[in-house]
Amino acid sequence: SDEFKMVLGALELYDKTVAHAMTRYEDIFMLPDTLNLSADMVTQILEMGYTRIPIYEKKGLDDDGGRINSKDRKNVIALLFVKDLALLDPADSHNVMKIASIYNHEVRRVLVDMPLRNMLEEFKRGEYHMALVERLVEQEDKDPIYELCGLITLEDIIEEIIQCE
Ligand code: ATP
Ligand code: ATP
Repeated sequence: SDEFKMVLGALELYDKTVAHAMTRYEDIFMLPDTLNLSADMVTQILEMGYTRIPIYEKKGLDDDGGRINSKDRKNVIALLFVKDLALLDPADSHNVMKIASIYNHEVRRVLVDMPLRNMLEEFKRGEYHMALVERLVEQEDKDPIYELCGLITLEDIIEEIIQCE
């Protein structure tokens, strides 16, 4: 029955980690900090249907000209909420990073091996509803670094509980 599945799903929160429920890095919709928004782009962004959009720092062009370095996407520096786009002044330049810095939403980060139960408790406290998921990468002769590997919201945990994937 559905109830039985839900109880099982809730119990499994004790064994599962954020990795099980997150949206993977490759599937995150994000925008480069250099982007200047046209009206068309705003429409496209709204059509994506996401409420929160990570902004990454685009460090420059590749050697082979113009393509976005995929590593840049790992360097998220801000969050844009689509509602921030509602009050755009047509007279201003609409650089996404400029808009994001006006609202300055905090970028929250968690580790990929955090138990889902703990993540749920965090979201229930209500301070934030989305977190970037990072993993620790050991490096030879250097300090370990944190690398972006996904994104998680309350909805992802609820889906684990009702097991509807
Ligand atoms: P589901 O419960 O949705 O069926 P699953 O049982 O396939 O998921 P896993 O395969 O354990 O869950 O993990 C889900 C995904 O998370 C994996 O495909 C893997 O790519 C990713 N993942 C797991 N551990 C890590 C990690 N330490 N760092 C980055 N990604 C990870
Ligand atoms: P809300 O429902 O709070 O308005 P939303 O629809 O943007 O926000 P959620 O409902 O929290 O997002 O999550 C729905 C799914 O979309 C989840 O799987 C979540 O991981 C994923 N998601 C949220 N934001 C993004 C994004 N920018 N890129 C890709 N996936 C995202």
